Amino acid sequence: MAFDLFSLKGKNALVTGSQVGLGAGIAVGFAQAGANVVVHGIDNNGIDDVCAAVQAAGARAARIIADVSSAQACEDLVEFTVRELGSIDILVNNAGIIRRAPAAEFSAKDWADVLEVNLTAVFRLCQLAGRRMLNQGSGKIINIASLLAFQGGVTVPSYAAAKGGVAQLTKALANEWASKGINVNAIAPGYMATNNTAALRADPVRSRQILERIPAGRWGTPQDLAGTAVFLASAASDYVHGHVLVVDGAWMAR
Ligand code: NAD
Repeated sequence: MAFDLFSLKGKNALVTGSQVGLGAGIAVGFAQAGANVVVHGIDNNGIDDVCAAVQAAGARAARIIADVSSAQACEDLVEFTVRELGSIDILVNNAGIIRRAPAAEFSAKDWADVLEVNLTAVFRLCQLAGRRMLNQGSGKIINIASLLAFQGGVTVPSYAAAKGGVAQLTKALANEWASKGINVNAIAPGYMATNNTAALRADPVRSRQILERIPAGRWGTPQDLAGTAVFLASAASDYVHGHVLVVDGAWMAR
């Protein structure tokens, strides 16, 4: 019974940016729960390994390279998922970038690039997948936000603005689609050991300060997100809508 509640058997998922990092952890977690997965990246780096892990779990893997800052590429991604797997039942908007500089010197390009990938592409993909889900009367959308949906961060103004926007977009879409069989939720990961935080972890002072503030006493890993994503993609969360779920080793509780 409990196992069935969390099963993704027969479901088809698109996980953006799943070539490495948190997206790879989610893609493999989905496969272990029974879902077929489109493994996506901006280049080939890591894609073979993630596809192999999805297949080793007994699920189908389809791969695609696309830059989500292009509107056409977002359309291609959703079309590809439906063509290769037969439907899009689960969308995880995980692809994201970060640029660091003091606000007074922050470039227009670093503002625009981050808003495009971390917020505009998220809306585009929600809209494109959402139309399909409205037609089929069911679907699960999970947007990857950040603790910087709640906090301002340090020298990452475009990232904090975009992630705050992701949290609000998640709620806005949930209000429209909750009655149509579509769950829209977000995960706000804490400080996770991936490329996204490589600069922080390489800075001995920031790295120590961050670690000292995490009650769990360690950085998170991609595997730490897999169970949360499976929950939000499964029937176990059918009455959970518009929620931003922190997975942060108790950072926000401190
Ligand atoms: P990562 O840098 O390892 O992965 C980012 C992924 O996004 C990569 O797979 C990359 O291919 C993809 N991507 C980036 N730009 C793209 C583009 N233009 N088109 C297509 N794909 C693109 O970092 P990560 O930590 O695994 O990040 C995954 C998500 O988690 C991001 O949205 C990030 O903001 C968020 N997040 C990370 C942390 C953390 O501590 N690592 C914390 C909170 C939120």
